[in-house]
Amino acid sequence: MHTDTHGTLLEDARFEELIGRLISYHNNEGLLSVYLNIDPALAAREGYEAELISAWKPLKAQKMDQWTRGRLEYEISGITEEVQSWREAPGRSVVMFFSGPGGLRIVLPLHFPMSTVARFDQRPLLRPLIAALDEHHRYCIVMMDKAQARLITVMMGSVEEEVHLESDVLPRTDVGGWGGYLQPRYARHREHHLTEHIHRVIEHLWTIDRSRPIHSLILSGPDEPISALRRMLPKALARSVVATVHLDLDLPTPDVVRRVDALDAEGRAREDRALVEELTTSAAKADHAVLGWDPTLEALSEGRVHLLLLAAQEPRTGVQCAQGHYFTAGDARTCPVCAEPLWHTDDIAEAAVRGALSTDAQVRFLSPGVGAELGSEGVGAILRW
Ligand SMILES: [Zn+2]
Repeated sequence: MHTDTHGTLLEDARFEELIGRLISYHNNEGLLSVYLNIDPALAAREGYEAELISAWKPLKAQKMDQWTRGRLEYEISGITEEVQSWREAPGRSVVMFFSGPGGLRIVLPLHFPMSTVARFDQRPLLRPLIAALDEHHRYCIVMMDKAQARLITVMMGSVEEEVHLESDVLPRTDVGGWGGYLQPRYARHREHHLTEHIHRVIEHLWTIDRSRPIHSLILSGPDEPISALRRMLPKALARSVVATVHLDLDLPTPDVVRRVDALDAEGRAREDRALVEELTTSAAKADHAVLGWDPTLEALSEGRVHLLLLAAQEPRTGVQCAQGHYFTAGDARTCPVCAEPLWHTDDIAEAAVRGALSTDAQVRFLSPGVGAELGSEGVGAILRW
């Protein structure tokens, strides 16, 4: 059974595809990126339009030539029109990328809050979106007993799919008057059915994971079926288990998600802590890891980064090569690789994320509580070589 909440959000396959396209998007005439937080308490239109107006203030305060200001005003009016067309708030936050000359007009409603920010640049501001995708990754809750199972997949804060499985396990009372005679064979029969039931659960998990990778698994149910499931889970899936809980099998889906969301976040924070520890230990021995902006950006320029770790932080300025050869938080003028002039950027972390993704490195945005453990600059990398 598929719940009717399936597909209310932009589906993940499209989401990742979209980010892939936007990573390499560039328009000389500029594009306006807007992240608009919608406080449900202020969800009356006046509330979020006021939020939008406050987002324009720092943009309009920037020094720019007449032409650029005209371009900015044009995109601001496009986004304002879009927001005014909403009959109701489309989500807890909305991400928009608009460029008239580029024919770009993307509106993504999200089911969780994001900080309001607007930027007008030649490239889209993607870091907050990628961080959100990281934070609200796909996880699956397996609720089961010996006879039934519910598999609930949650992505970007909303239920993506819910599958119900019924096993054909014979209820105990069916044994009736023959109980004494049949019991040994019946017990074996029941065991066999439990094994089949678990096989079906695992097969469904595989199917989900193949089409839409599951980042973590949370198991819920009585000890016997859950420990049997844990024994039978293939290694790749067993590694994803972050918690085991006891929830009522009939608990309504929104309540399940509310209860489990916090567990998933804790699991994520534990993973983050392990990564930070691996990185700081290796960096101390100068063993395939670096800490701090300068060495991280240098490694990134050389395509040596395997995993970029970032803590939430205020934007910091830097320069980058338009071709992606070189980044620095310092003030170099020309690219050491292609000798072209370097571009100024108000947000070197955004450039770093873009550089990482274009060299097939992974990017991990650390959970709020863990960021501080990654040194004072809040950035580091595990290296390929
Ligand atoms: Zn260059």
